[in-house]
Amino acid sequence: MSLVKMKDLLERAKAEKTGCGAFSVGNMEMVKGAVRAAEETNTPIILQIAEVRLKHSPLELMGPMMVQAAKEAKVDIAVHLDHGLTMETVKKALEFGFTSVMFDGSACPFEENMAKTKEVVELAKKYEATVEAELGLVGGSEDGSCDHGIRCTDPEDARVFCEKTGVDALAVAIGNAHGNYPVAPTLAFDVLEKIHQNTNVPLVLHGGSGITDEDFQRAISLGICKVNIATASFNSLIEKVEAYIGTDGKHNYFDLNTAMESGVFENVKRHIEVFQTIYKNR
Ligand SMILES: [Zn+2]
Repeated sequence: MSLVKMKDLLERAKAEKTGCGAFSVGNMEMVKGAVRAAEETNTPIILQIAEVRLKHSPLELMGPMMVQAAKEAKVDIAVHLDHGLTMETVKKALEFGFTSVMFDGSACPFEENMAKTKEVVELAKKYEATVEAELGLVGGSEDGSCDHGIRCTDPEDARVFCEKTGVDALAVAIGNAHGNYPVAPTLAFDVLEKIHQNTNVPLVLHGGSGITDEDFQRAISLGICKVNIATASFNSLIEKVEAYIGTDGKHNYFDLNTAMESGVFENVKRHIEVFQTIYKNR
């Protein structure tokens, strides 16, 4: 039980037809809450942080903490850079011991995305790390600063992309979006099914916060092996903090710390349970 390659967790999820939760963290309390949920459910998880978050949570501080937390955990944990945008950050994460990196070239033209992803695959090989890429456009953005719109992944492009780049995992756009959904999204399961048929790699669902439990399970049954959860954890943390601050009496830092951790713990635990449940067509 320790820091493991993300590829191993995804292959295990694929074989079991379950989903591996990838949970975004931004401070120590979030790391502790997520790891505790993984340990209590005896389920491996992925701890991740996106490049856009690094201005609030520097990689130099978060990286070593995430890696150490994984090493000390009682379950297998992979540490992943989410939405890497520059080669420099990808390299830094690998140097810190991340066992996986995502390079997000989804806003680039197809050929350029493929060329850049290939470069990352070559670099990651030296570290024996896993590489995730993205094809098509997932709506919104990791920090809510912009929205490029949604463009579903083309299943034929996905086949060519995976063959030529040699990526280990592919993030797909099937109507999913980052951030809070105004209403539960309609996922294009037909597109997902075609991508799954055309590629042999574990698929990744971004923008998991707000998708229904049944849709998660259906997506997992159609090839999704990794599900990213960020917003739901941030929301759950804030809810717990607000409830604590709303209580009478004098407040203190330590109980505030506990509130943050338990907010993340509850959300991560809930999602782990959903992702571990096999989809039954009702
Ligand atoms: Zn994402």
